Amino acid sequence: MKIGVLALQGAFIEHIKILRDLGVEAVEVRLPEDLEGLDGLIIPGGESTTIGKLATMYHFMEPLREFAARKAMWGTCAGMIFMAKEIGDGRSNHGQPLLAIMDILVDRNAFGRQVDSFEVDLDVPVINNGAVAPFPAVFIRAPRLVAAKGDTQVIARLADGTAVAAQEGKWLVTSFHPELTGDNRFHKYFLKLAA
Ligand code: GLN
Repeated sequence: MKIGVLALQGAFIEHIKILRDLGVEAVEVRLPEDLEGLDGLIIPGGESTTIGKLATMYHFMEPLREFAARKAMWGTCAGMIFMAKEIGDGRSNHGQPLLAIMDILVDRNAFGRQVDSFEVDLDVPVINNGAVAPFPAVFIRAPRLVAAKGDTQVIARLADGTAVAAQEGKWLVTSFHPELTGDNRFHKYFLKLAA
């Protein structure tokens, strides 16, 4: 098993560390050719506009779409925005490049400014084989899922019903940062999808 983490900008080192702690071969993906031989790719949190601009500059857009058509992909926070088909009011990409892989509508910075970052225990049955065991989720200028369409399933919600994680086949998106907590259950779950 070999997993890549898109390393253009953002919190990629933390994902690499968790994957290596789990005994998985993990590599930083900086050029399209680095996708070769990977079983899955994580797109980290950071700034989705910057990730989109750099991905365009380094000719990553089509290779990433082709990769996702065959393999597992997980977008955390900015990565979730980048994987979405629609953002904001859903009428345009609002000037930022999107991979447009997953049939979700995402609202950026949906919880306020940087200072409004928060941590909350989430119930995510899929990562516990259906059992209840709260996952500590860290939100940083996080997006929310406004709509999950087609075959996309919402897999986690805040207490007020706001959708914050979804899955469609081998694709996973989370509004929050599972790489910033000591809890590796989301990474283990992604490895299952990639296997
Ligand atoms: N606010 C960022 C964006 O819109 C995402 C923040 C994050 O990835 N922690 O791209």
